[in-house]
Amino acid sequence: MTATPIDGKAIAEKLRAGLALAVKTTEAAHGFVPGLAVVLVGENPASQVYVRSKAKQTVEAGMRSIEHKLPDTTSEQDLLALVDSLNRDPAIDGILVQLPLPSHIDADRVIEAIDPNKDVDGFHPMNAGRLMTGTGGLVPCTPLGSLKLIKSVRSDLSGLNAVVIGRSNIVGKPMAQLLIGESCTVTVAHSRTRDLPEVCRGADILVAAVGRPLMVKGDWVKEGAIVIDVGINRVDAPDLGAGKTRLVGDVDFAGAKERASAITPVPGGVGPMTIACLLANTLTASYLRRGLVPPAV
Ligand code: NAD
Repeated sequence: MTATPIDGKAIAEKLRAGLALAVKTTEAAHGFVPGLAVVLVGENPASQVYVRSKAKQTVEAGMRSIEHKLPDTTSEQDLLALVDSLNRDPAIDGILVQLPLPSHIDADRVIEAIDPNKDVDGFHPMNAGRLMTGTGGLVPCTPLGSLKLIKSVRSDLSGLNAVVIGRSNIVGKPMAQLLIGESCTVTVAHSRTRDLPEVCRGADILVAAVGRPLMVKGDWVKEGAIVIDVGINRVDAPDLGAGKTRLVGDVDFAGAKERASAITPVPGGVGPMTIACLLANTLTASYLRRGLVPPAV
């Protein structure tokens, strides 16, 4: 079997186009434009790139983008004061504090300070609890985007065996919760899992969120499985020239595509879905905050 590639770039573009339309309709029908505040502390180059593309795509979707760039010497107290003012600001619907934060700032404390109703990253314990109990709330963007990619190739996941490799609060755990919500039988594998290849071979849906280049080999993949590669790893690429690098996922794409029925590439798979889902969460938050039912996009 040769897998169908799941084109995350195209699916994300379609989602963003739907969101842009919904933003226009929202303004016409309800008289408001959703606003997303992004807070960046320090000069981490990868974070700067993310924040730039978040701002660009927010504006392209017709939403308001508010950026706060703070020096890496910013105290935790000052950051908490900014979060507090954004919580109170009626013009702000979503607040995202870009991670990682400088080591002198307690990221958990900052996340817990964000109003859960504006927590468009879905990292606040209140939203994690809502996801766990199936009671709504804002869902972390990368797992939400990954689920949309899975559902782009198969809408009914009920009864399927899903294996999620990785147990982070940002990807692995919420991904597992979303798949439980779809009535999958879910195994969460991690760094202490015994015989990971054999665990993976039982997966109808295999999600890799580890951060280890090409760790998941082709013969770990069950024939016909849907494979979602969340990992983003920069590796040396001497074939491209001296000092050059390229991005690869956690899955050995060439091997896995011979057995999977559908697979996401890296880049161009899960990555583009993350920002699109952030915008979707911002639209959702803007409606819920006003006691309105969010549009289905
Ligand atoms: P993390 O470091 O917080 O978690 C990694 C997880 O992998 C841990 O739970 C750990 O137990 C598990 N793990 C580590 N070594 C393992 C091994 N040998 N076998 C099995 N499990 C192992 O990372 P994260 O924040 O969850 O991110 C995971 C990957 O996803 C990274 O490559 C990250 O860059 C990427 N990511 C991508 C997006 C996106 O938008 N596409 C978003 C977030 C994270």
